[in-house]
Amino acid sequence: MQFSDLKAQYAALKPAIDARIRRVLDHGQYIMGPEIGELEAALAAFTGAKHCITVASGTEALLIALMAIELKPGDEVITSPFTFAATAETIVLAGGKPVFVDIEADTANIDAALIEAAVTPRTRAIMPVSLYGQCADMDAINAVAAQHRLAVIEDAAQSFGATYKGQRSTALSTFGATSFFPSKPLGCYGDGGALFTDDAALAQAAREIRVHGQSARYKHTRLGVGGRLDTLQAAILLAKWPRFEWELAQRHAIGVRYTRQLQGIEGLRTLAVRPGRDCVWGQYTVFIEHDRDAVQSALKAAGVPTAVHYPLPLHQQPAYAAHGRHDGCPRSGAASQQVLSLPMSADLTQADQDRVVAALRAALAA
Ligand SMILES: *Cc1c(COP(=O)(O)O)cnc(C)c1O
Repeated sequence: MQFSDLKAQYAALKPAIDARIRRVLDHGQYIMGPEIGELEAALAAFTGAKHCITVASGTEALLIALMAIELKPGDEVITSPFTFAATAETIVLAGGKPVFVDIEADTANIDAALIEAAVTPRTRAIMPVSLYGQCADMDAINAVAAQHRLAVIEDAAQSFGATYKGQRSTALSTFGATSFFPSKPLGCYGDGGALFTDDAALAQAAREIRVHGQSARYKHTRLGVGGRLDTLQAAILLAKWPRFEWELAQRHAIGVRYTRQLQGIEGLRTLAVRPGRDCVWGQYTVFIEHDRDAVQSALKAAGVPTAVHYPLPLHQQPAYAAHGRHDGCPRSGAASQQVLSLPMSADLTQADQDRVVAALRAALAA
């Protein structure tokens, strides 16, 4: 059993993917070829955002968004410490200071009720993370942001396709940033990402930053990066696109099935999904209340691969100790000891899912 089964996906789509790749090899426009615009139009239409700017990775998407809002040295960005390093890393790379606000214990997303108290005159932006594929409380976050004139950049690397009160993740705030890393809900076959916004000026800024700050060829109007998505990766995403709605439905069904089967097991808590939101299960993650590492070892011995997202919150990571500010974030610390991600992909079979649940039950009963 694989943690994330990408081979079954390729097998299902092989003729379309191979044809799309061949077309790029034939036209030869490897950089910013026609597939880039075609993909951006499809993704914008799907999310409802006015503008989509594809980029080289999810990390690059976050960095370009922070550069586009013109973060200044010392500006503070409020974020969650319970996330992948890229969230805080890009804040520091853009010259900012991450201010870590603790999570809700049951969703593992930033606790919007704690954000207001962390705002200072230096705060420029809020960067919530839609962890495990469920949106953070974007209405509450946008309300605080509006009151203090802050930008909101949703780290939607794990939540592409999720909805929040009927609207798509990535289209809920100033910017939404997603990743097409192979195992994400919409993955390419290498690195890739995209930014979404309704603001035409910010979209233009992001487009320029993506190509070294050029407003026209060799006219470098602003500081930029080499942040384009490869044409080949856009072609692969376009070939995968017709299957994405089915994959989303599968992810929902598999998540619901896991959650139902895992109820009532002593020592195990499933993730809370709030009303008005759905979860696309970028990771299917549960909380093991005691001795998570022993449960993980038992699953490994039973042939069930798992992962921990994430074993140490960022406010406790050496790289951010000197850069960040926080008030202890005890719920993030507790979650990092308890979380365990189970095998998940649109192609996970019911038989494999049953094996995971049985192994988990056995490990917790031991
Ligand atoms: C995967 C991920 C990223 C980074 O995306 P890459 O495409 O790997 O650069 C950022 N934030 C979160 C929460 C992620 O899960």
